[in-house]
Parts: sequence; structure tokens; C-alpha cells
Amino acid sequence: MSELPGQPFPLNGRKVYVAGHRGMVGSALLRRLGTTGAQVLTAERREVDLRRQDQTERWLEAHRPEAVFAAAATVGGILANDTRPAEFLYDNLAIIANLIQACHRSGVRKVMVLGSSCMYPRLAAQPIAEDSVLTGPLEPTNQWYAVAKLAGLKLAQAYRRQYGCDFITAVPTNLFGVGDNFDPAASHVIPAMIRKVTDAQAGGRDTVEVWGTGSPEREFLYVDDAADAMVFLMERYSGEEPINIAGGQTVTIRRLAELVAAECGWRGRFVYDADKPDGMPRKALEASRLLGMGWRPEIGLQEGLRRTCAWFLQAGDARLGTAAAI
Ligand code: GDP
Repeated sequence: MSELPGQPFPLNGRKVYVAGHRGMVGSALLRRLGTTGAQVLTAERREVDLRRQDQTERWLEAHRPEAVFAAAATVGGILANDTRPAEFLYDNLAIIANLIQACHRSGVRKVMVLGSSCMYPRLAAQPIAEDSVLTGPLEPTNQWYAVAKLAGLKLAQAYRRQYGCDFITAVPTNLFGVGDNFDPAASHVIPAMIRKVTDAQAGGRDTVEVWGTGSPEREFLYVDDAADAMVFLMERYSGEEPINIAGGQTVTIRRLAELVAAECGWRGRFVYDADKPDGMPRKALEASRLLGMGWRPEIGLQEGLRRTCAWFLQAGDARLGTAAAI
């Protein structure tokens, strides 16, 4: 007899599949799940390409997990989103549609779809509450990724309504941490700044370029805190509404650049390239639903930057990562 929506769903002893385990979020989920007593399943891309429906269905049918974290995605920063729209839309639509349908067919009891803060309207009231979803136009630079993430939310809702599946959507704020992608063409702002500053330091240069005006505000949450919240919600949350994973620190990009420089001990100057896009003027998520359930983050921005810089400097080739966590 399966649990009714709303009842606790402890992961201890269950088979749990992490789709996208090589990405920053997926690898943090593996670290966190290691302490739950769950039996964790992963699959390499050569075994199952989640953009292929037949492969996805076959793999889920063969392994029959009880819970699935849908953390696989083609991901990237503001420029990658803007310049590779087809990949960001097609890959992510295909991955989530295939996963949801395959999970339904093979009887997965609980699925967590991962949304993104960019699926909220560009000018939503800040910090952005869950009920802002689909109330206004999207930020154009990452609309492709956002539309795929909105489709994921709607798929989870539709399968709940039509088939009674306990599929939920969690929406993390901007995440950073160990295992991030440091490729300058695809990365988000924190790995980009860490890389640029450490490169300037190594090369004895005293200026570093920052995209945009430096005035946008972003909230940043350390990835291990986010993974902790994902496990917390998988075990306790059931509902059609998306739920934000936030509670991080909000800073301007200008302040973030200073914090990275201070962390690296670099004393140069930042030069702002206003020809590069700013993206959303402000982006922070309202976290009262999650915090009201008793969850709290543990790792602040500075401590997270310290861990991420240290990892980047010792990780060698692994640090260049890949833009896709499929
Ligand atoms: P976003 O939150 O979806 O906009 O994703 P990003 O992390 O890519 O960008 C956040 C903000 O940082 C935007 O205003 C960017 O213009 C700014 N930014 C400044 N320098 C960089 C950089 O070198 N790389 C990236 N990705 N963003 C940068």
C-alpha cells in the first residue's frame, strides 16, 4: 500500500535513483543520501541517455527505484543560456518528460522535479514567493531553460491530478559549491569569478572583467545545504504547489566580486563590461514555507566561497566539469 500524499516518506532502506549524479547538485545529493540509509542508484550517460525515451523507460523498468531525484539537466550561466537556446530547451524538455513518464510507468512512488529560480517572472515581487509562478513575462536571457523547468512543474502537477502520483517540484535559488562547472563559456557567476580571479593572480594581472553593471542582486545557497533541503522535502513534503529552496544570502554582483577577491587574497581592480547582459535585476526566493517546516541552512556565503575556492584550487582537471549533468 503506497503512502498517501502528505504522509512522511523516509528514505531509509529505499532504492533511490539520482538522475544527474555527476552534476553539482547530483553529487551533493549523493553525499547527503549517504547518511540516510537509502540504497542509492546512479547511471552513466553511456548506460542511459535521458534525452532518449526508450533508454529512459528501459532503465527505470529494469531498476525500479522507489524514489527519484530529477537532478539531470543541461545547465549553464547567463551567456550559455542565451547562445545555446535549442539545447537548453530541447534537452531539458526531453529529460523531464521522459523521466516523469518512465517513473509513472515503472511505479516510482515519489519523484522530486527540480525547478529553477529563473522560472519565475523577471519582475516578480522580491523575494519571490511560490505563487508568483506564471504571473508575468520571463527574463529573456534564460527563457529557454525556464520554459523547460515550467514544463517540469506542470508535468508533476498533471501526473498528480490524473494518476495520483506523488510527484513534487522544488525550486532552488542560485546554487554554488564544490563540483560546480568552471568552464568560462558555460559557468555561473561564482565559479566564473573564482576562476578569473585565481587566473589573474597566477598571471600577475591586476584587473578582472565582470559581466554587466555589477548592480544585479542574487541570492546564493551552498549546494550541500540545498541537497539537505531536497532530502528533507522528499521525506516530508507532498503537494501540487512548487516549494522554494532558499534562505541563502543576497548580494550584488559587485559585492560578490569583492568577496571572491578577498577570499583569494587578490588586490586588483574589477572592470565592468556593460555590453554583457545583467539578466534579472534582482533574484531572491521567499523561503517561509520551507523554513516554516523547520529546515535551516548551515553554510554561509563566505564559508561556502572558502570551500569552493579550496576545491577549485586542488581539483585539477575535474574542476572544468561539464555543462551537462545528464
Ligand atoms: P543568472 O542568475 O541566471 O543571471 O546566472 P549567472 O550566474 O550566469 O549570472 C548572474 C549575474 O552575474 C548576471 O548579472 C551576470 O551578468 C553576472 N556576471 C558577472 N560576471 C559574470 C561571469 O563572468 N559569468 C557569469 N555567468 N555571470 C557573470
